[in-house]
Amino acid sequence: MTFISYNKKLGKILTTNPYFDADFEKPLGDMFFSFLELDFSSYNESYKILNEYFVESIRNDPDSIVETRKRLWKLNPKTTQQIKERFSQVYDITDTAEDLEFIDFLVLNQDINPDIYQHPYLLASEYFQRTPELDISIIGDYDLDELQSIFKELLEFCVNENEIYKDLSLLERYYLYLRKAGKAYITAPGMRYSPYFEYGFFTGTHLKSDSVTQQDIEYIKKYPFVGRFYVNCQTVKDFVFFEFYTIISQDIEIKKCHRCGKYFIQKGNYHTDYCDRVPEGKRHTCKKLAAIEARAEKLKSNPILKEFEKAYKRNYARRKNDIMSPAEFSEWSNKATAERDRIALEYAEGSSEQLLQQFKDFLGNK
Ligand SMILES: [Zn+2]
Repeated sequence: MTFISYNKKLGKILTTNPYFDADFEKPLGDMFFSFLELDFSSYNESYKILNEYFVESIRNDPDSIVETRKRLWKLNPKTTQQIKERFSQVYDITDTAEDLEFIDFLVLNQDINPDIYQHPYLLASEYFQRTPELDISIIGDYDLDELQSIFKELLEFCVNENEIYKDLSLLERYYLYLRKAGKAYITAPGMRYSPYFEYGFFTGTHLKSDSVTQQDIEYIKKYPFVGRFYVNCQTVKDFVFFEFYTIISQDIEIKKCHRCGKYFIQKGNYHTDYCDRVPEGKRHTCKKLAAIEARAEKLKSNPILKEFEKAYKRNYARRKNDIMSPAEFSEWSNKATAERDRIALEYAEGSSEQLLQQFKDFLGNK
């Protein structure tokens, strides 16, 4: 089991596992929102084949099982190679006795979009950190595509500006969704609350009246999880549910970025329609890009700059055709730029036709 908790003071979700490396500390919402963005299409193809396999194995239909296995192999050549090496000569396409590798096509896959395996939910879930006994009752816990689409729909319902339920809190909207959509399984009954203690936490076996030292006080002050109840999570769904429920239980605002369309949490009193993500191929965050774009848009509609651009194009053509020398062009450009900046500033304070005409005259524009 992996322990997960929310530290309200830090505004962070913390995870840890005593048996494998699953220590994450992320701002509330980060892991949940990024999970909703993952591309599970290639994963889902293998998942669906695996699901068919279960039906076939219940029917005890060896021919179909071999067919299914062939499809899985063809779809996942690297993973197949890896499993073949592990099982060496035992791994035979007609040998239906060996089931265990089937779940490896989801858990240890080398052919599926690798991004999904780098997500903290998968890195922290035991279901993806070791190969479990193959059991039909747990196969649904691997249906990540379905899990994602349910929570996408649910979040959209909770966040959208609906006239009828706009006055409800996020938590109330969640229950309203359950009431209407009937998806009662959007809970995680396997999760258990318990305190979590690091190795070395316990120093005594029973309390003596004078045994508390200054070091104990320091330790307790420093210890990040003490007094906090953790939740035990095993499946990816447990993590998704925990973070989702934590988000909607807090008195916070969730927004959809007007630039990239991804969700984010509105922090503090500073209202913005843009998130802090850096879009792929860009160097700035959506917030910064939106500001840059807004400025560019403003410049485009500014008549002072339009006039400058007209004159610049005209003189640039003259320069190209050697009607103007490089020195003349450079001198004109310097003077005109300085005048543009001076007048643009004045124009921004109070636009006037007279000022615009003055600039046009200066440039020799019609
Ligand atoms: Zn954005």
